[in-house]
Amino acid sequence: MQIKAPRGTQDVLPKDSYKWHLLEKRIRELCDLYQFREIRTPAFEHTDLFIRGVGETTDIVEKEMYTFLDKGNRSITLKPEGTASAVRSLIEHKLYADPMPLKMYYLSTPVFRYEKPQAGRLREHHQFGVECFGSIVPNLDAEIISIAMTLFQQLGLKNLSLNINSIGCPTCRPVYRQKLKEYFETHKEDLCETCLSRLERNPIRILDCKNESCREVVKNAPRTIDYLCEDCSDHFHSLQEYLTILGYDFVVNPGLVRGLDYYTKTVFEIISTDLGAQSTVCGGGRYDKLVEECGGPDLAGIGFGMGIERLLMILEKQGLLPEEPYKNKVYIASMDEASKKEGFRLLALLRKNGISAEGDLMSRSFKAQMKYADKINFTHTVIIGEEEVKTKKFTLKNMELGTQESLTEEELINTLK
Ligand SMILES: [Zn+2]
Ligand SMILES: [Zn+2]
Repeated sequence: MQIKAPRGTQDVLPKDSYKWHLLEKRIRELCDLYQFREIRTPAFEHTDLFIRGVGETTDIVEKEMYTFLDKGNRSITLKPEGTASAVRSLIEHKLYADPMPLKMYYLSTPVFRYEKPQAGRLREHHQFGVECFGSIVPNLDAEIISIAMTLFQQLGLKNLSLNINSIGCPTCRPVYRQKLKEYFETHKEDLCETCLSRLERNPIRILDCKNESCREVVKNAPRTIDYLCEDCSDHFHSLQEYLTILGYDFVVNPGLVRGLDYYTKTVFEIISTDLGAQSTVCGGGRYDKLVEECGGPDLAGIGFGMGIERLLMILEKQGLLPEEPYKNKVYIASMDEASKKEGFRLLALLRKNGISAEGDLMSRSFKAQMKYADKINFTHTVIIGEEEVKTKKFTLKNMELGTQESLTEEELINTLK
């Protein structure tokens, strides 16, 4: 039986990987511009990290994690998002002792969620995300948002909408939570089983239930922005001022809560209307209590994550991905056994001089080698026969122009360079 890739996973084939490289290069340059440095964390962590970090009553933890016992009977979970690991690492390596703010990003990190596979939603996907710790100022929130916005602008993405909201802090949230609980209690009959249990434990999580009936109830639920304390309200207004300074259009979307427990104050999403239904290309927010909840000091944080596959899908759809930029360079074609060895020596020499080259690896006839060189689109072919071996002068054929010249080894290298 043929073995196929597991459902919800995807191969990146050699002919497509350049798209990832282009995007990754852009992202690295951009992060450098904002002076963020890369962090790399393991693909799996202790399950407790996500229960504490992401939240016990979230959809991710309740339904979507790849959790298993390893051979040492430890509960292990494949990373379902990037922030918790960054926080764990920060605490473990005492990075909080460094000068603040602490800025980091992760790129193409694999993220695993057991979801229903659908357009742009995979069980293993890869994320780019940034995290910044140690500052509560609203201009930082605007700066974080601007990293994502700048990337999308640079890539030329169209049809995007920036949505922001504030979901309060430990001061104002209990009041809101109570209001929300009272509201949902009057609609109990329309809530799904999971949400009924959330009603007691964490009614806020009902707001992002994907169940149709629950979503109907949520439409008229009380909104966080109507219950913000003075501090949260000032912060939210100030953020809007800074976004305006940057020239961004944005929508205040009171229904935006994000599916994670750790957010405080600012949450945001950048939404594309290009993948059929509305689709989030970037989501993030502030998490001022997360570091403390994971066992670290009282340290504010903010960040975002975006799925690389989804972003590539939209770029593809909008025709913003260039053709493969790499060209096959030099092919060495040889006529007989002696020239084959000479060609083999030359091949090593070209590569030593930084010239990308290939020789015959299929024992093809000379004619078939030339045919192959044509088909694979090499820019140049070096032809070696009896004469060339004797005179040490090589025939270089420019495959695009069809011209040929006879060159010494040194001339050949200089021309190809
Ligand atoms: Zn507040
Ligand atoms: Zn529900």
